[in-house]
Amino acid sequence: MSVDVQPSHVDQIKQINIGLVYRLIDQYGPISRIALSKKAQLAPASITKITRELIEAHLVKEVEFPELGFRGRPAIGLKLDSKGWQFLCVRIDKGSVVFGLRDLSNHLIVEDELLFPVSENQHFLDYLIELVDNFLFRYQSLLERLTAVSVTTNAIIDPVNGIIHHSPYYDIQNLSLCSFLYQRVGVPIFLQHGITAWTIAESLYGAGKGSQNIIQVVIDDNVGVGIMTAGKILHAGNQSVVEIGHTQVDPDGERCYCGNTGCLETVVGIKNILLKAQKSARQHPDSLISTTTSLTVEFFCQAANQGDLLATEIIRDVGERIGHIMAIMVNIFNPDKILIGSPLNEAKHILYPVIQQKITQLSLPGYSEKVDIAATAFANSGTLPAASLIKQSLYSGQLLLEIMQG
Ligand SMILES: [Zn+2]
Repeated sequence: MSVDVQPSHVDQIKQINIGLVYRLIDQYGPISRIALSKKAQLAPASITKITRELIEAHLVKEVEFPELGFRGRPAIGLKLDSKGWQFLCVRIDKGSVVFGLRDLSNHLIVEDELLFPVSENQHFLDYLIELVDNFLFRYQSLLERLTAVSVTTNAIIDPVNGIIHHSPYYDIQNLSLCSFLYQRVGVPIFLQHGITAWTIAESLYGAGKGSQNIIQVVIDDNVGVGIMTAGKILHAGNQSVVEIGHTQVDPDGERCYCGNTGCLETVVGIKNILLKAQKSARQHPDSLISTTTSLTVEFFCQAANQGDLLATEIIRDVGERIGHIMAIMVNIFNPDKILIGSPLNEAKHILYPVIQQKITQLSLPGYSEKVDIAATAFANSGTLPAASLIKQSLYSGQLLLEIMQG
């Protein structure tokens, strides 16, 4: 570091270094200061200073290693100290909200799913803060130091400014969610698109761990994609998301809520697949699908797994359509891994080979050969994606500095 560095750059370097040290202690702890210095490529004096600050803030603690160190004394290592540090995760779904209280090691302390029947902007905010207050009051005996709130939702959002522009589920526009919650709760507030946050969670502790280039496809009621390229989540810092669900695949198809017709989501969204299966079952009385009046996706996958021709045919059609779009994305992003997050993973031995075949057929052989298709480690529920935003901010040093400055 040269002496004429701007103070803001010094702060930035401090933030990056403290985040790096915290991440290494999280990943390798208990770890000695010497090993930490090597892995972080920072001078021992810097490590001593940073770890002292983290220890004083009760974010890191010293523990004795089981093995013996220098001159037979027990070696001293560092590990994270998560006790008492908590954050609140909020997942806003269609008509419901999930609250999860977690500690900094991501351990889930308590989780509640509540109905969220709201109409417009002010009603949305008022009802949400009422639910937050009630949740914190209900579990006040479990509550310690609340450090942040993290919100995820599948909507058009601006994560940097904390705004929900539009939601497919609620009649809200340009809602300044983060500044409102910050005024009321008084801790840093994070907001991210549900699929983007899910991809971050998979890359940190799930099926994408260790990969630098990931495409995650979600096939659920919503159809979407999250992309990580060279270790960075694409568009995590701005309001655009990579959009595949609203790509027209059937010009004569159904009208979609986005205003177009025949979007991918109207064809391969789970709700639409089930409707299609039920409709087709009337012409196929021999299909297992026709034996039920309330078709679930679990039953649908089981039928396919038992060799039901109709269910198999519909899953193959989903695979071809998804594979077609994936092939183009493989050529653009050259991923190591394609993760599939879907209830259709129950029938993945039918779905994945069709996607694989399409990719092989349509994209550059050098790229398609190395792609590995795998199921996501986590389901499309719960508050782990929201929790991963907190972890990400700790690793970047941003939230650490805010916590340490109290
Ligand atoms: Zn659409």
